[in-house]
Amino acid sequence: MTNLLPEMAEIWQQTLNWQPTVQQKAQFQKLYELILEANRQLNLTRITDPQEFWEKHLWDSLRGIAPLLLSANFSPAYPALIDIGTGAGFPGIPVTITVPNCTITLLDSTRKKITFLDNILNELALTNAKTLVGRAEEIGQHPQHRLAYDIALIRAVGAASVCAEYTLPLLKQGGLAIIYRGNWTEDETTALQNAVNQLGGVIESIEQFTTPLSHSIRHCVYLRKVANTPANFPRPIGVPTQKPL
Ligand code: SAH
Repeated sequence: MTNLLPEMAEIWQQTLNWQPTVQQKAQFQKLYELILEANRQLNLTRITDPQEFWEKHLWDSLRGIAPLLLSANFSPAYPALIDIGTGAGFPGIPVTITVPNCTITLLDSTRKKITFLDNILNELALTNAKTLVGRAEEIGQHPQHRLAYDIALIRAVGAASVCAEYTLPLLKQGGLAIIYRGNWTEDETTALQNAVNQLGGVIESIEQFTTPLSHSIRHCVYLRKVANTPANFPRPIGVPTQKPL
């Protein structure tokens, strides 16, 4: 059985005002095949149908960064990104394929997922990404990583205030955190506001949109780092999830 991803040229164009090149399409297809193959041993994703993979993994990953990186006027010209809790590589790998003029660090606490991603980077000849095994709580206190990134991406890792505590310490002043969410409520905005205040950030915007095939609701929350993050954040391993801000 062959598993071919759909083209969706018009949808890319209409929704993101962008279209993949021939090479990017080939990389998306190869990524899909490698994930399907590895999924037999590793529990990487339950999304295996080609249309669903296209929508929930590829399109969704790129929708979050579309306002920035697909536009020509992004500054700086060579941003440093980190994808925290990247799992099978989402949103980080589609971003790596799409934005060659960035460097991206793919972070996950599970070594076997990172080993899988090393193989993906190799097979897809992606040289602008590197992998890192570790916990966001440790990496955020590491001098090499704290205050080192222009953009931090995080999808499906935890409550929004936990995501804020994982992302904001890693950002440079003026940097942006992008939290990918499904549903979103006013109560979550209130809770997040409180966390973000303590971490030196502000909620810059919250975008709601629907996915183009199944019309599911999604949100992206954009946090801007406007002040120093106090040295005690992120707190030690496990504390952010056990005692969310
Ligand atoms: N972002 C991917 C995977 C989400 S699953 C996607 O949207 O498809 C959550 C992933 O986060 C898992 O792979 C898990 O190993 C990782 N993770 C959870 N807590 C983490 C932490 N504190 N630091 C680093 N990675 C973490």
